[in-house]
Amino acid sequence: MHDIAIIGGGPAGLSAALTARARNKDVLIISNPAEENPLAASKLVDNYPGMPGATGLHILTTMHAQAHKAGAKFLQARAISVVPMASGEPAQTSFSITTSSDYVEARSLILACGASSGGKPLPGELEYLGRGVSYCATCDGMLYRSSTVLIAGLSHEAADEADFMAELGATVHYVARAMPPGLDARIHRHTGKILSIKGDALGVTHARIAERPADSPRGPELEKRTSESLRDEPNEVELEVHGVFILRPGIAPTSLLASLATEGGYLKTDAQMHTNVEGVFAAGDCTGRPLQIAKAVGEGQVAVLSAVEYLSA
Ligand SMILES: Cc1cc2nc3c(=O)[nH]c(=O)nc-3n(C[C@H](O)[C@H](O)[C@H](O)COP(=O)(O)OP(=O)(O)OC[C@H]3O[C@@H](n4cnc5c(N)ncnc54)[C@H](O)[C@@H]3O)c2cc1C
Repeated sequence: MHDIAIIGGGPAGLSAALTARARNKDVLIISNPAEENPLAASKLVDNYPGMPGATGLHILTTMHAQAHKAGAKFLQARAISVVPMASGEPAQTSFSITTSSDYVEARSLILACGASSGGKPLPGELEYLGRGVSYCATCDGMLYRSSTVLIAGLSHEAADEADFMAELGATVHYVARAMPPGLDARIHRHTGKILSIKGDALGVTHARIAERPADSPRGPELEKRTSESLRDEPNEVELEVHGVFILRPGIAPTSLLASLATEGGYLKTDAQMHTNVEGVFAAGDCTGRPLQIAKAVGEGQVAVLSAVEYLSA
């Protein structure tokens, strides 16, 4: 049981973790690696005080090292769901967090998931969530052993999840904009993206995907079309599958915990970064504009001080 769990290892989460350690709290950050954070793509950040001219990745790895040195714990995984539970005497809420690799428990929770953690849901995604659509092969894979699944490879762990499903005996279609090296030969690769998901009463039966023929010529006919007018146009195909695993780097906070209030698409907080759910705080881009590092770092500190106060109440 951790004192504080933080979902998201960007500037907000890392700042919160550092202050949590200064307050001698046991803190765990659940996140993807720094290289997958959107900021890592930035070649120049010139407006974060104290680090002029740094790359985004340098800022992230420096903050990560500082939090690690202070004693913060890290779990490289995707948080999939959060369940509040009453525990202790007198009863206090704790949080059970399912991740792509482990179950975690904490007495308080800070959401620092960034602004684009969930990505825009695909048409049909939310409708079939839990009925054919899943965000975690490790968690739900056994339900689809020996059947046909489609994996949207949008995160670093997606290729491993595809291998895992193949090991369970599933027929695996893997869709990604670029293919990771070393994906198992038993897996059917599609360079492109999923457009929509549809199904019947029993769950998902079809996923429509746009393939880019120029990237993935498969057979003479496709090669012929590629050399003609289709070079830059997606070639839409429909795959019949039993399950669709959408493996993004993150998951929208409202998918993690449905009772969270939002405003204008962002998590609603007060000035002390309390959300509407007791024991849950939020910081950084997920709470709204300006979407900037300095704001994320400041809110991370306010959120964790509120969490510390909550824990000592
Ligand atoms: C290319 C680029 C350039 C930028 N340049 C600047 C700049 O020059 N100056 C500036 O101030 N700001 C800049 N920004 C904005 C800045 O990156 C953000 O404001 C800042 O990173 C927000 O920090 P955060 O901690 O709130 O969220 P993020 O940095 O987005 O971190 C959240 C992390 O949590 C992960 N996550 C989400 N959900 C889950 C989950 N369920 N489980 C596990 N992990 C999860 C996300 O994938 C992400 O890695 C830039 C952004 C980009 C993309």
